Amino acid sequence: MPKVALACQFCTTLNAVDLSRHADKPKCAECGKPFLIDRPVKVREEHFEKTVLESEIPVIVDFYADWCGPCVAMAPMLDEIARTKAGELLVVKVDIDASPEVSQRYGIKSIPFFARFENGEIVKTAVGAVGLDGLNDLASTTST
Ligand SMILES: [Zn+2]
Repeated sequence: MPKVALACQFCTTLNAVDLSRHADKPKCAECGKPFLIDRPVKVREEHFEKTVLESEIPVIVDFYADWCGPCVAMAPMLDEIARTKAGELLVVKVDIDASPEVSQRYGIKSIPFFARFENGEIVKTAVGAVGLDGLNDLASTTST
């Protein structure tokens, strides 16, 4: 059962969430609010390592900013990937202004910057308004 450490969006407590059971609507052990994992999950810098790097399933990270037009344009497509791939991979969003250290670590200069992480490493990236095809390509990559 692939588990991912997700911070509750309400109380920020980290929970080990079994994503293969996403249809059962897992709840936060601390506050009882549900995890909404059929849509992109916002990840804060302090949880990046546990949620993204230690995930047992592939993670698509959208490095974005609220002031970035192409990021806003890509958001509904990212939502679609999160919905159709729920349980197979995790889709997260990282606000580069709120997470400057993470953005710097990966040398992100141009956004939107999409990266597929597997076992703590970036295995593929897509930069710019790559469209749904670009995201699907990122989502369907299988590393061997
Ligand atoms: Zn909670």
